[in-house]
Amino acid sequence: MSRFFSERFNRLEPYVPGEQPKDMQYVKLNTNESPFPPAPEALARISEIAPSLQLYPQPDCTELCGKLAALNGVEPENVIVSNGSDETLYFAFLAWCGEGRPAVFPDITYGFYPVFADMSCVPYREIPLRDDLTIDVSDYTGGAASGAGAVFIANPNAPTGIALEPSRIEEIAKSDPDRIVVVDEAYVDFGAESCVPLTKKYDNVFVVQTFSKSRSMAGARLGFGIGSRDLIADLMAIKYSTNPYNINRMTMAAGLGALASEDYTRTNCATIARNREYTAEALRGMGFAVTDSKANFVFAKSPDIGGEELYLKLKEQGVLIRHFGKERIKDWNRITIGTREQMDILLERTARILEEKI
Ligand code: PMP
Repeated sequence: MSRFFSERFNRLEPYVPGEQPKDMQYVKLNTNESPFPPAPEALARISEIAPSLQLYPQPDCTELCGKLAALNGVEPENVIVSNGSDETLYFAFLAWCGEGRPAVFPDITYGFYPVFADMSCVPYREIPLRDDLTIDVSDYTGGAASGAGAVFIANPNAPTGIALEPSRIEEIAKSDPDRIVVVDEAYVDFGAESCVPLTKKYDNVFVVQTFSKSRSMAGARLGFGIGSRDLIADLMAIKYSTNPYNINRMTMAAGLGALASEDYTRTNCATIARNREYTAEALRGMGFAVTDSKANFVFAKSPDIGGEELYLKLKEQGVLIRHFGKERIKDWNRITIGTREQMDILLERTARILEEKI
């Protein structure tokens, strides 16, 4: 840092994204991207829009919000779109938390939450998951989360993939109507149940989703949030105070193309869910503990090899998975679900590494 960097950010430890290495062609199972290309219609719409790039994009994203509203059974004023769902999440920290109104989230969850909190100068409390890596809902309906501005629950959680039923999220929302429950549904399309219906019943439930995973558009950066008209107005105030043009023309066009191709999305999600069960089963057969993931990744721990060692050995053999340094989960690895062929390569190389070890 330079000596000019604001003291306000003394504590800031920037988020470290998963590796995007260029040294060789890996079987890349480390950043939860889709193994499938974007829908053909999404690509076609990008080409159509490209000649009009001299014009700013439409700041209110009317058509995209309208289509997302129709798909989710809400009104357009209940929707905000953003530059990746990360941006909506950041806006949520800025809008609903602050001095005396901390953010609350599990100790093992999406690693960006503490960074967003520090970036927005918001205090936060981390609530430990149970030993089996599940969320204890009573932690969020009782004392530990009281007085919070917002509770952030990734559902399914990351990196465990474990999902809560919407009825459990509802308990959290009901327990304190003055605190927002932000449900981060980045991975919901692979088998969990969405909390969007709760946003119509409770004005303190806000749901965040993304085009990055199920719609194969991580590179386009498109996310969205659904909540009451007033919650959306809060986030719009922040959007118009930072970057009204946060969705570029090509991304907006691609998003509309993807939404016109919902069958394609559903088919891909079903394939990934099947490959996930296949992979989890095979890993269990090799002795791994595997969480009950509803996401496009599995979270697994071997009794025979440490998490970091397995990650490094697989990387040497051209397979990239994700290892987190955090003490509580240092024996675990998160493995993105790809095509059946990619998973077979992972399984075959993992088996070989374990054989050499035992
Ligand atoms: N939430 C969770 C739980 C995630 O894992 C991710 C992806 N890293 C995001 C949100 C953000 O995704 P994006 O900004 O690509 O929409």
